Amino acid sequence: MIIIMNASAGDTEISQVEHRLQSLGMRCNVSRGIERTVIGAIGDEVKLDQEAFEALPGVDRVVRVMKPYKIVARETHPSRTVVNVRGIPIGGNTVQVIAGPCSVETQPQMDSSAAAVKAAGCRLMRGGAFKPRTSPYAFQGAGVEGLEMFRKAADRHGLPIVTELMDVRMLDTFLKYGVDVIQIGTRNMQNFDLLKEVGRTHTPVILKRGMAATISEWLMSAEYIAAGGNHNIIFCERGVRSFETAYRNMLDVTAVPVLKRETHLPVIIDPSHAGGKAWMVPALARAAIAAGADGLLVEAHPCPSEAWCDADQALNPQELVTLMGELRGIAAVLGREL
Ligand code: PEP
Ligand code: MN
Repeated sequence: MIIIMNASAGDTEISQVEHRLQSLGMRCNVSRGIERTVIGAIGDEVKLDQEAFEALPGVDRVVRVMKPYKIVARETHPSRTVVNVRGIPIGGNTVQVIAGPCSVETQPQMDSSAAAVKAAGCRLMRGGAFKPRTSPYAFQGAGVEGLEMFRKAADRHGLPIVTELMDVRMLDTFLKYGVDVIQIGTRNMQNFDLLKEVGRTHTPVILKRGMAATISEWLMSAEYIAAGGNHNIIFCERGVRSFETAYRNMLDVTAVPVLKRETHLPVIIDPSHAGGKAWMVPALARAAIAAGADGLLVEAHPCPSEAWCDADQALNPQELVTLMGELRGIAAVLGREL
């Protein structure tokens, strides 16, 4: 951390900063210039409170040298991490498409969804048993019964399951049902207690971006999970809130190269919650893979118009097959497989 003093700061203020740093176990390098003094803090700055230093008399501003996130940062781990989900690699050379309905509805719906996901060539399946709905009167998900239906349908086709955890009290149930990937939704990206608890497990986690979160806040949320010991984290960009009303959320494709530079962890895209309309999904999905995403989280339903949740954005089985074909071509151009 570098502390830049005001031009008018005197010896008393400078030594006050020095003492504060020393009391926190840091060493100081005081550089007295003609205009002003700059103090370099040497040591582990992660736990230093930038604002506390900015509040000291005579301090103009404070600049951090290190990133506030460590475990998830690429600067501390340059090689790419591949998250292994029951033998399926996410973040390697193969692009993974995780498909399935927004919500688990009935056993027949899950059975035909699983068959369609498998037939399209996808290796993992999604489906929400606990749904974060804007209205408390909307379908809230099939709950534990939904987990059971999901497990049964997916197991028949050997598909690992991805499902959202909203309440920390359900974590043990998720572990009991062997949920293969825990999804943390956009509304819970900064539910720090939830992040800490999934951080204590070894189950892979898909961490969706908060709908108005900066990339830095998102990385810090991943750091919460990683700090507990769980490094199996996959970032998922799903569009952010914007001024635009022509689509549901604004897909931030730029987040892919930025995250790829900042973190060694895999990055996937959810084109369904970004566009909010099925007809937008293929274009967004193609853009995501072209930008270097490691995979997609796509909503697909055996009969979209009958879906209990997010009907308008679900692909039908044929559309999923067509999309997979298109993506295969894009992946090949980039030297990747699908
Ligand atoms: C979902 O994936 O079903 C979902 C609710 O997504 P998000 O958290 O991105 O809104
Ligand atoms: Mn949905």
